Formats: sequence, C-alpha cells, structure tokens
Amino acid sequence: MAHKPVTVTAAERQVTCTHCRGVWFWPRNVVMSSGTATFFDLDAFSPQVTMLSCSGYGKVGMFQPSTIQLHQQPG
Ligand SMILES: [Zn+2]
Repeated sequence: MAHKPVTVTAAERQVTCTHCRGVWFWPRNVVMSSGTATFFDLDAFSPQVTMLSCSGYGKVGMFQPSTIQLHQQPG
C-alpha cells in the first residue's frame, strides 16, 4: 500500500477532488461484502472498489479498480 498520496487518471482524464479540486489522493482497495454491495446498488459490479481519499480535505470517492490508474511520484 502506498505511503504517499498518488495522482489518479480515469479514461485518460485526471481525477480531481470534487470538493477542493485537489489531485492527490490516498488510495485504498476495499472488498465489499455482498450486503454492502447491495446497499450501494453495485451488484452488477465487482465487489472490490478503490476508495480515493483526498489528501487535502479527506473527501472520499469510489472507483472500480479496473477503470482507474494510480500514479505514484518517483522518490
Ligand atoms: Zn479535496
């Protein structure tokens, strides 16, 4: 797991925080239980999601791992 925030692209577009327009996120892969997936109406999707927590204000967004790319800065 990353110890530094990462930038994220989805469909070759930069993912930005919807709150502060930041581009740095803390990623975390989460496997949803079937009950949780039903709660979020995500039955059609993989139960694994990537939660991206904005490094600035902590706003959390969720993506399917297959749709996004994480970019760690070297060093
Ligand atoms: Zn933010």
